[in-house]
Amino acid sequence: MRRLLTLLCTFSLTASAWDATGHSVVAVIAYDRLTPRARSRVDDLLRKHPDYESILTRGAPEEPAARARFAFMMAAVWPDLIKGDRRFYDDTRQNAVPTALLPGFPDMRRHTNWHYYDTPYAPDGAPIQKQPPPSALSELPRLIRELKRASEAQKVYDLPWFEHIVGDVHQPLHSIGRFLKSAEGSDQGGNRVFVMPGQTLHALWDSACGRENSVAYVTKFAAEAVAENPPPRRMEKNPRKWIEESAKIAIAQVYTFGNETGSREHPVRLPQSYMENARKVAKARVAMAGYRLAAMLNDRLN
Ligand SMILES: [Zn+2]
Repeated sequence: MRRLLTLLCTFSLTASAWDATGHSVVAVIAYDRLTPRARSRVDDLLRKHPDYESILTRGAPEEPAARARFAFMMAAVWPDLIKGDRRFYDDTRQNAVPTALLPGFPDMRRHTNWHYYDTPYAPDGAPIQKQPPPSALSELPRLIRELKRASEAQKVYDLPWFEHIVGDVHQPLHSIGRFLKSAEGSDQGGNRVFVMPGQTLHALWDSACGRENSVAYVTKFAAEAVAENPPPRRMEKNPRKWIEESAKIAIAQVYTFGNETGSREHPVRLPQSYMENARKVAKARVAMAGYRLAAMLNDRLN
């Protein structure tokens, strides 16, 4: 367990998504809602994952059911873990040098642009640019298709990605990029907005579910998120709509401080009520992501 915690803590400093906590919460909410059939299918797929022993069950409990649940939780974090894993390379960099293809992986790319789709938002009418594919917007529909019909090896590779990106696009700042006349290009989902105390707006939202990664904390947080945010009556299954919904929430709940970007030297000062609201919104978003992840897997893996 300590090794797992060390691993999670080290990478959470650099993660650019919901932190491990947020992804783990989404995963346990979903896992506990899978049909017995879908659950045994995801357990089976993850057991075939090349990183099952080394990462997905590292520090996991011995008892089989708890071990399987743990693996599903870690699978949701896996796409962030490979950002710091030297077996993989950053394919979005110019002059990127591919690393050696290892058994069980279709490729060794980090696919860092799959984690988000920055819907252009121009509150003061600044010129916008659309994010080209691949992005969360292009990859989610592909993954949904492939979970139904692709080779077994492809499904094994896809499942952690699907768990992860469903979580990511429910973080409002993974679905929007703000363009202002005063700034060059988009704010990259709040990564170029600086807020007190010494962090980016994006990081503030990533960590809004807390930064503790123990199974006990994650399970407790998930139970609270579910109790405070019951499942919707109609389950939206179109990922484009998830992204549109997240972008709307970003406009209404994230960019409430106006058309400022702050700077490292002079970060935007946010009121205490901002952080309290961010925690509330983030909790609702991880609950929604968990419900939708479960619904999609129940649908595709039955
Ligand atoms: Zn991510």
